[in-house]
Amino acid sequence: MLIKTINELREYLQPYRADNNTIGLVPTMGALHNGHLSLIKAAKGMCDRVVVSVFVNPIQFGPKEDYNKYPRTLDADYDLCTKNGVDVVFSPTPEEMYGKGFILSNDNLTYVCPPFNYTDKLCGKSRVGHFDGVCTVVNKLFNIVQPNFAFFGEKDAQQLIIIKKMVKDLNIPVEIIPCPIVREASGLALSSRNKYLSEEGKKQALVLSKILNNIKSCYDKGIKDVNLLKETAFSFLNDNVELEYLEIFNSETLEPQEVADSSSRAFIACRVEGVRLIDNIKLGA
Ligand code: AMP
Repeated sequence: MLIKTINELREYLQPYRADNNTIGLVPTMGALHNGHLSLIKAAKGMCDRVVVSVFVNPIQFGPKEDYNKYPRTLDADYDLCTKNGVDVVFSPTPEEMYGKGFILSNDNLTYVCPPFNYTDKLCGKSRVGHFDGVCTVVNKLFNIVQPNFAFFGEKDAQQLIIIKKMVKDLNIPVEIIPCPIVREASGLALSSRNKYLSEEGKKQALVLSKILNNIKSCYDKGIKDVNLLKETAFSFLNDNVELEYLEIFNSETLEPQEVADSSSRAFIACRVEGVRLIDNIKLGA
């Protein structure tokens, strides 16, 4: 079922909640691929009712980012969801979520702002305000759907860590279920933004997973010095790939580390053909 308004969704879910059905939420921005599908399958395996939200959230995009051209494929998304047993696709308009005539400013909206220590690095450094927008919309979705479980991909590891922190700090009654990164056979992490890449760009984009896999195998061979591990990336970089960041941080707290250990995760962001791509890998078992 496709639902576009908050009231209709609440009305739909109310009897199931009253019957103690477990409700799972998979928040997405649409242009669904097998990465999203893995979250949907995890939700189907754990919950009586599954809601997939498809909403390109304007307040998490910076003024120079790709909000207007972000791929919107609701019909195909809806088909994929219904074929895979999703009960509701919730696809509100920006006006439904933020009110009529809303403007993209924090002058007239209550934002949920995660702590600076979690947002002043990795994607938060170049995408100022991005995680405020993410936490605000995810918090709204939690209030609207009141799910028992919510499913997030490790592909966006910083987002997952920040959402877990928000849930803990704000005592939100939902369990966050992390789902592993789904990749193409080539190693490229699936992303809605891969649609912007040419075939040649997709080949160039393999540099991200190659760098991460190499760091992991160096770590497994006994190299623990973070600077040495990061230096191993240089041999993979070329003029077609613009490195934005490569960091090794604690996987739960995002604290920087000098020596990698089983808590470490390597995070990378690059631009290929002008498209910003991210990936990450856990170093410990
Ligand atoms: P998005 O539509 O890009 O906002 O992503 C919605 C959810 O799908 C987020 O929790 C993402 O982390 C997750 N996701 C996106 N790509 C992948 C992937 N390749 N593997 C696993 N989860 C993913």
